[in-house]
Amino acid sequence: MTKDRWRPAYIGIGSNLDQPIEQVKQAAEHIKMIPESKFIKISPLYESSPLGPTSQPNFINAVAAIMTCLSAHNLLNELKEIEVKQKRARNVEKWGPRTIDLDLLVFSSQTINDKTLTVPHPEIKYRDFVLKPMSDITLDLKIPELDNVEDLLKKIENNSIMIKRLD
Ligand code: ADP
Ligand code: MG
Repeated sequence: MTKDRWRPAYIGIGSNLDQPIEQVKQAAEHIKMIPESKFIKISPLYESSPLGPTSQPNFINAVAAIMTCLSAHNLLNELKEIEVKQKRARNVEKWGPRTIDLDLLVFSSQTINDKTLTVPHPEIKYRDFVLKPMSDITLDLKIPELDNVEDLLKKIENNSIMIKRLD
């Protein structure tokens, strides 16, 4: 009999359309229902100014931590299903507005780089709207092939993106 293997995974949640705070909270509820997984916690919510096209609303961002027995690819598929449920239109402009964006940031100590999945997510180290909420729920997480979250955050402290924590 195969034994369950529980692995930690971190999921980035972002929205800037159709009541983004509610979208992020709804995504958290959906994440709680992912099969073969246990919800651990969600970070506080942050508001940040958009990357790329700037004539779009600010984003609401958060990071969720789960434990899962799913493979990274199966977890990604679950995340894509949640995006569909929350009516994310696909093929929107890169970095354009979206009702919900779920990114698999870190999956245990695995590094994966194939057609559908790159883990750790390649943009983590550039994004304070990912690193800040991550640092609220874990400081000493060592991201495979990168520093820990606290050190990564120090390195981008002076970038120009507006970010504020919502209570
Ligand atoms: P982005 O998040 O960069 O704005 P999308 O959400 O539209 O872009 O994702 C496009 C594709 O990126 C997805 O279909 C997915 O297969 C792929 N992808 C690769 N690595 C990841 C990851 N770590 N998390 C989420 N999607 C990923
Ligand atoms: Mg995405």
